[in-house]
Amino acid sequence: MRPTCRPIWPFGSSSERRGSPVPPPSYDLAVVGGGIVGAAAARDAALRGLRVLLLERGDWASGTTGIAAGLVHSGFRFARDRKFHLALQCLREWETLHRLAPHLVQPLAVLIPVYRGGRLSLRRIRWGFRFYDWLSFGSGGPPRQILSAREAVRRAPALSEEGLLGAGLFYDFRCLFPARLVLEHVRSAQEEGADCRNYHEVTSIRRVAEGFELEVEDRESAGRSCVRARAVVNAAGPWIDEVGRRLTPDWPGRVRLLRGTHVWVDADLDVAVWHEGYPPCFGIPRAQHVLAGWDLAEISAPEEGVGPRAGDLVAWLGEARRRIPGLVPDPSRLLLAETGAWAVPRKDGRPSGDLPCEYEAVEEGGISGFVTLAGGNLTLFRRLAENGVDAVCKRLGVNRPGTTDRTPLAGGGFRDQVIFRENLVECTENLPRIPRPVVDHLVGLYGRKACEVLELGLSDEELRERLGPDAKDHVAQVVYAVRAEQARHLDDVLLRRLSTTIRPDRGLGVAEAVSRVMARELGWEEPRRREELERFRAQIGAQMDAVREAVR
Ligand SMILES: Cc1cc2nc3c(=O)[nH]c(=O)nc-3n(C[C@H](O)[C@H](O)[C@H](O)COP(=O)(O)OP(=O)(O)OC[C@H]3O[C@@H](n4cnc5c(N)ncnc54)[C@H](O)[C@@H]3O)c2cc1C
Repeated sequence: MRPTCRPIWPFGSSSERRGSPVPPPSYDLAVVGGGIVGAAAARDAALRGLRVLLLERGDWASGTTGIAAGLVHSGFRFARDRKFHLALQCLREWETLHRLAPHLVQPLAVLIPVYRGGRLSLRRIRWGFRFYDWLSFGSGGPPRQILSAREAVRRAPALSEEGLLGAGLFYDFRCLFPARLVLEHVRSAQEEGADCRNYHEVTSIRRVAEGFELEVEDRESAGRSCVRARAVVNAAGPWIDEVGRRLTPDWPGRVRLLRGTHVWVDADLDVAVWHEGYPPCFGIPRAQHVLAGWDLAEISAPEEGVGPRAGDLVAWLGEARRRIPGLVPDPSRLLLAETGAWAVPRKDGRPSGDLPCEYEAVEEGGISGFVTLAGGNLTLFRRLAENGVDAVCKRLGVNRPGTTDRTPLAGGGFRDQVIFRENLVECTENLPRIPRPVVDHLVGLYGRKACEVLELGLSDEELRERLGPDAKDHVAQVVYAVRAEQARHLDDVLLRRLSTTIRPDRGLGVAEAVSRVMARELGWEEPRRREELERFRAQIGAQMDAVREAVR
């Protein structure tokens, strides 16, 4: 059906106000979905000189990416399981990510215990190490080790000693703030000229002679508009099929959906522990808690991935206590649980007990210029986005190779984080009240862009204040989130911009202060501020209630 919207984009343009007809604005490429895959595709295409529009119906990274555990796989597990192609890809990708955004992607020690009668043997792990060394020419990250049972328990006291034969210790990588990785991609795309709009939903897509016409709803104002693009990338993650059906009712289902659950536990771990099997059971140390999970259950719609279920949690708890007994010593240590839908390409069989790591960029048969990016994760998203933009460029007759493997992200662009931080500390030494830990904190979150936050702080004493007595974040960061990072709601800031995103209270303690700063910046009246606050408290309350209900 033909969209009935008026071409009012950009909003309130002077010609529209005069009442003269305005043709829909047109782009080379429209990307649907502002998770890690869509943001990476927009950046890649903008770097190749295409006119790009990136549309996200919620906040950036408010889909699956925002709740990911943040593991960037080193590829060792794939080497061990003889999946050479995947191992090589992971190896190249973590190196690239670590180089382009060293402040966001760092090594994480992981211990895999081996038990008598289990599916893994120490011999197989040793073989995997050798093979991984060979694949990486000996440069595959920090050294790997085989540990005796006693040493394994010393490193990870949460393990059960019964039947323990030893463990493999290796390094994966992790991104503590997956949402910030998305924001950096969006910023980089904008710096290359891309038009990036969060809270804009694509409600229908129609083929026209020169490409596609998209109907877009601004979810903040409920205004509708039309845009044209010569090509479309569908990067809507678990909603890929929903977006596809907005183009054609004959859409072939492209993805299978799995519900993943994370549980936050008040516990201590020095290294991440990964117990193999299906589903895998793991614990990853984070800020003052351990992130544990996960249960991967097949679901039929993305909505089924929303909200933890008490039944799942009870089952997971039993499994976790059997496999890593010290992980949840007592159910009262469970802090909260969150869930999300994970989309994997439909051709993929049931995951074998490892990680769903298949991905594909497909140009739909018979719909040239419509490219679907399915199955991207935090390790391989850059490559998937590159494949997708290659397909778009081919269709548009553009002959420019991707450069995302060598162009630093917005906050990257320094070789060594320690040297960069030292330089920044030196520059700020004579400036009023910017202590070193503050510089450290900001560099860890924003990389090179920490300078912009510092600049804000220097302009106004009030912005240098902390959000609360125990808070790590400052008022300037909230202002920066609104002015430079398109934050519109309280949860945008607390769950996707600040370090509160990984604090056990998820920012409840500073929510009041943040809401006041946002109210000032965005002109909220008191009822709106209260509404934002209540909505946020209810959202986090539901995550906490789910675990309380499960252990009752
Ligand atoms: C619990 C859990 C833990 C995980 N942990 C890890 C991990 O540690 N490491 C790892 O590599 N992977 C992990 N994953 C998988 C990984 O998070 C996802 O594969 C990846 O984030 C998917 O990114 P995406 O951009 O494709 O999808 P999403 O992040 O879901 O982005 C899609 C976006 O499209 C938007 N959208 C949908 N419809 C429309 C529309 N009509 N108009 C505009 N926008 C629209 C949505 O709002 C959404 O933001 C995990 C997954 C789960 C569920």
